[in-house]
Amino acid sequence: MDLIQKFENAKKVLEFAKSCEGVTDVRLIDARDIVVDDRVRFQCSHSGCREYGKRFMCPPKVPDVEEFKKVLAHYIMALLIQIKGPAEDVLKLSKLLHNAVYKTEKKAFSLGFPFAAGLIGGPCNLCEKCPEGENARCINREKARPSMEAMGIDVLKTCKNAGMNLEFKNGEITWTGLVLID
Ligand code: SF4
Repeated sequence: MDLIQKFENAKKVLEFAKSCEGVTDVRLIDARDIVVDDRVRFQCSHSGCREYGKRFMCPPKVPDVEEFKKVLAHYIMALLIQIKGPAEDVLKLSKLLHNAVYKTEKKAFSLGFPFAAGLIGGPCNLCEKCPEGENARCINREKARPSMEAMGIDVLKTCKNAGMNLEFKNGEITWTGLVLID
């Protein structure tokens, strides 16, 4: 697929993402506008996140930031997907975002982007908790995805680069996810 066709197909994926349940904003961005900062991953491990080490899609069980940077360098475009809603619906909205990211990734794949890769916002909440124990594994490997933060992405700066509103308001929650496309 040439670059012009890629761009046309990416716009179709954008329209699809907009139609996913709960989605309030979607932007097609240049992959170079994705900001990766080691301090984001450092916060995962050293700022008291309760999910650190517990979720299969959270650090340290996911690729490190350096590895992600190498992978990211191969992409040319991405879709930022946002869901906003009442703070009391935090879990429901997190699952809606996960679903939108997953479905958009599959749509991108079907439109000729074989390396489409989705990243959610915050810890994977598909199950109440991940199985524990020496041989425990993710029980929904098909659908589980790591978060942007786990990969070291500075979500605030990346949204700012995309002209996407990421205000923090009392009583409102915003979840942001990403689908890398190529
Ligand atoms: S799908 Fe379930 S087991 Fe897998 S990472 Fe998500 S919450 Fe954990």
